Amino acid sequence: MSERGAPPAFHVLAKPTGAACNLACAYCYFLEKERLYPGSDFRMSEEILEAFIGQYIRAQRVPEAVISWQGGEPTLMGLDFFRRSVEIAQEKAPRGMRVSHTLQTNGMLLDDAWCEFLCEHGFLVGLSVDGPRELHDVYRRDKGGGGTFERAERAARLMQRHGVDFNVLCAVSAANAVHPLEVYRFFRDGLGVEWIQFIPIVERVNRDGSTLLQQGDTVTGRSVDPAQWGDFLIAVFDEWVRRDVGKMFVNYFEAAAASWTGAGTAMCITDETCGRALALEHNGDLYACDHFVEPDYLLGNIMETPMFELVSSDVLRRFGEDKRDSLPLCCRECEVLFACRGECPKNRFLRTPGGEEGLNYLCRGYKAFFTHAGPVMRVMADLLRKGRYADEIMDIVKARDDALRDAFAGAGRNDPCPCGSGRKYKHCHGK
Ligand code: SF4
Ligand code: SF4
Ligand code: SF4
Repeated sequence: MSERGAPPAFHVLAKPTGAACNLACAYCYFLEKERLYPGSDFRMSEEILEAFIGQYIRAQRVPEAVISWQGGEPTLMGLDFFRRSVEIAQEKAPRGMRVSHTLQTNGMLLDDAWCEFLCEHGFLVGLSVDGPRELHDVYRRDKGGGGTFERAERAARLMQRHGVDFNVLCAVSAANAVHPLEVYRFFRDGLGVEWIQFIPIVERVNRDGSTLLQQGDTVTGRSVDPAQWGDFLIAVFDEWVRRDVGKMFVNYFEAAAASWTGAGTAMCITDETCGRALALEHNGDLYACDHFVEPDYLLGNIMETPMFELVSSDVLRRFGEDKRDSLPLCCRECEVLFACRGECPKNRFLRTPGGEEGLNYLCRGYKAFFTHAGPVMRVMADLLRKGRYADEIMDIVKARDDALRDAFAGAGRNDPCPCGSGRKYKHCHGK
């Protein structure tokens, strides 16, 4: 095995506490992974920590490495573990390499000492919040069943006070998907964050009733409905494109802009192939992806096989290429394939109208969103290509809105609708 097949750069989400967490969110896809490691103490040893950071840094063939911590809840390891991780990274990084750190957390344990540390070392923190209290607390509960909103909000305020760089990770579920503007405005105006990552909740029910594996074609009632998902993205997009471009950053909109300009996407789900976002368990087991921490996708253990060999493996290459090669015909012929890419393979469990397997459960939502956003994205991409600013799109959209409003005001009931739908005004915007 050689490092020839390894990607020049890849990401590893390291889980120092495995699936262990101090919360019990109803939609958590990770808590059940405890069953994969019976009897484990779910704590990454210093030996594995050192091996992980050393091997990871050595395997990067770019002058940059991002050490990413995730869970379960990584802060359960305690601050000293992360102090040590930064020290090791400083020791191992070759001259000229830029090392940065990220931490995904529910925020429950953050205090002044944590925030000082995170700020000092420039960690980018992802804080899980699902919207205002009444929406956040529906599924994000502690082990006693209590709501966690207050503690998450407190963590956000604390990080703001200390100048910690953080964004919000919002799981979009059946509970908050129908309140897109409430959620978005809460983040913007209530919490005062600029970066939002939305993640759709799609939980597949396995034959034994669990949600441990990516198996089965029924989803839990907590999962977002495909049409709701599209409506959610569209509603937030319509607000963003009229007032927040250049001020608020939403993962899906940034990725869409990259697709329309032809720049590479930063989101694996809208990338053509997978295999560059792996997951490392607390005991050194390396998996093909955070969403496939399952026995079939275990590449090996970094204490037995060096990481660069594991990422060069045919198993990972096939896993990555399958994303592109297993697309059903309706995706391959889809007008928005370049932006959607059939999304994440974990969600591809529907049959197409023609009976082919592998259609994404969220297809309807993505098609609606990308079709809706496309005309605006095309104009925005054009602005950027001409060396102008993306936020100029807001004036263009406003001028278009004003013109349409005037045209609606002057339209007769039987006239063609000014929006260009081809229907009569009375059957369209004049209803
Ligand atoms: S905080 Fe994260 S890891 Fe913990 S239960 Fe909630 S979703 Fe799962
Ligand atoms: S399987 Fe899904 S989450 Fe994993 S790398 Fe591929 S697109 Fe990303
Ligand atoms: S919108 Fe639907 S058909 Fe088009 S690429 Fe995405 S999943 Fe496939």
